[in-house]
Amino acid sequence: MPFSLHGIGVSRGYAIGRTYLLQRNQPEITEYTIPDSIIEDEVGRFLNGLTQARRQLREIRERVPTTASAEDATAFINAHLLMLEDATLAEAPVDLIRVHKCNAEWALKIQRDFLVRVFEEMDDPYLRTRKDDVDHVVRRVQRILATDDPAYLNDPDYAELIANRLEGRIIVADDLTPADTVLMQHQGVLAFVTEYGGPLSHTAILARSLGIPAVVGARNARAYLGNDEPVIVDGRQGVILAGLDERILRYYRHKQQQERRQQRELDKLKGKPAITGDGVTIGLYANIELPEDAAAVREVVADGIGLYRTEFLFMNRSEPPDEEEHLASYLHVIKTLEGSPITIRTSDLGADKQVDGGRGGPVSTNPALGLRAIRMCLKDLSMFRPQLRAILRASAHGPVRMMIPMLSAIQEVFQVLRLVAETKQELRDRGLAFDERLPVGGMIEIPAAAVCADQFARYLDFLSIGTNDLIQYSLAIDRVDDEVNYLYDPLHPGVLTLIRNTIRAGHKAGIPVSLCGEMAGDPRYTRLLLGLGLTEFSMHPSNLLEVKRAIQGSDVGALSKIARRLLRTTDAEQYAETLKTIAQN
Ligand code: PEP
Ligand code: MG
Repeated sequence: MPFSLHGIGVSRGYAIGRTYLLQRNQPEITEYTIPDSIIEDEVGRFLNGLTQARRQLREIRERVPTTASAEDATAFINAHLLMLEDATLAEAPVDLIRVHKCNAEWALKIQRDFLVRVFEEMDDPYLRTRKDDVDHVVRRVQRILATDDPAYLNDPDYAELIANRLEGRIIVADDLTPADTVLMQHQGVLAFVTEYGGPLSHTAILARSLGIPAVVGARNARAYLGNDEPVIVDGRQGVILAGLDERILRYYRHKQQQERRQQRELDKLKGKPAITGDGVTIGLYANIELPEDAAAVREVVADGIGLYRTEFLFMNRSEPPDEEEHLASYLHVIKTLEGSPITIRTSDLGADKQVDGGRGGPVSTNPALGLRAIRMCLKDLSMFRPQLRAILRASAHGPVRMMIPMLSAIQEVFQVLRLVAETKQELRDRGLAFDERLPVGGMIEIPAAAVCADQFARYLDFLSIGTNDLIQYSLAIDRVDDEVNYLYDPLHPGVLTLIRNTIRAGHKAGIPVSLCGEMAGDPRYTRLLLGLGLTEFSMHPSNLLEVKRAIQGSDVGALSKIARRLLRTTDAEQYAETLKTIAQN
């Protein structure tokens, strides 16, 4: 009998194939006391486990094909290798073994629990999901320790992945590490289904960049699905269908063909300008998280990068990055983009403990309203100044813009502009080149800033609307809290009014305004945003062509009139009707 399982669709596309259930047996971790005489042997056993884990990861890295889409995978594996070198994982457990006289697995568990707590308390959703990295790395070492066999290939999980022919299979697992994902993709896997993880998990990010359909968070999938069972994965809706009959199969084969045809049509839009039916040219930019994401931006031929989230540079380490590290990653992006503009956002980290690998002070009770983003940078100049210097130095190599997140008060703009002026002088004194006219812009993500956007527009060179946060703050809904997610409504009249106000303020001051929240990449909202006057969109590269299609053939003149009517409407039913009209225009 047909039945369906539901998760979160994180990489669209349909896959029809047989399941491969990955039953990884995580060893039970128990604590036992180690006699004084063999404490150093236990330390040696732990260090050997680390060495073997590194060898596994290096071996997997060598199997990554040298394609642009695989660059993400290499970056994630490198990040895991770095974690295995980092004192928080490589040294702290050694101290724990010696002090507590406990076994290596237990020491690793104590340290893992500590690090996961630190990540869980983080404000930024992307960084919060990076606790998965800790788990993946720790589990790898624990499995190696559990086999107690120096031949690392005897790690059953690793051996299984290396040996199995996974071609044409749909992988169903509890969770997948970036290394697993790479190994499998290399073997021609059709789709991924995991029981855990969210849209920002590694499986999700990698599946998207590899173009493989994926559903995450499909709880208990392995309890309901058999091994080698025919299933259909719908990576857009987040559905897994099983108990298939011929009728369902026919239907989905048809949908699959349709989707491929549509993708081929979309591909034809690559490199074509985004111009509305009435001749308005729209700028389409991309959001990136890792320098390696820049390859995907080039692939879809975006106008440039509208948001480079630099937080990843601060992850998985005990010290913030220095000027040269910042610079190296910016130069990588500049080189990949070959002359297209790049908007580098200064650090948008949460409470200050996040930058020092979790050894800092307590987290604020309400981190989303606490010391995050520009507030934190202005408080900790030793962290901020190297980034400012690096952005300025990068601007000598290509068209760079600097963007400040989470502005709430105009004084923050003045402080930043003063610091930029000081940094320029410092670079001049050091004889280093930079763009004297580096544009400095700000993100409008706080309702009060949107209301007073004209103030910000007077002193900044551009504005970018961060709707992910703007919606969270204006509707008082934690964007990562499942309990209130249903209230997260980009179409709320209050939200749309704030967006329109910001666009108007920017245009009145003669500066560009873009929108870089998730809303920009959702083609359902494209025409509404055009109607509100938006002329620059920045989004995940995978959404860019669909948005371009929605732009082509639209009529901005007509859309503006309807949008004006929409925001004058006080009747809920009429509001919904007007929204429908906009979508059809
Ligand atoms: C936003 O808030 O819309 C945004 C783009 O920034 P982030 O998602 O990184 O907070
Ligand atoms: Mg934001």
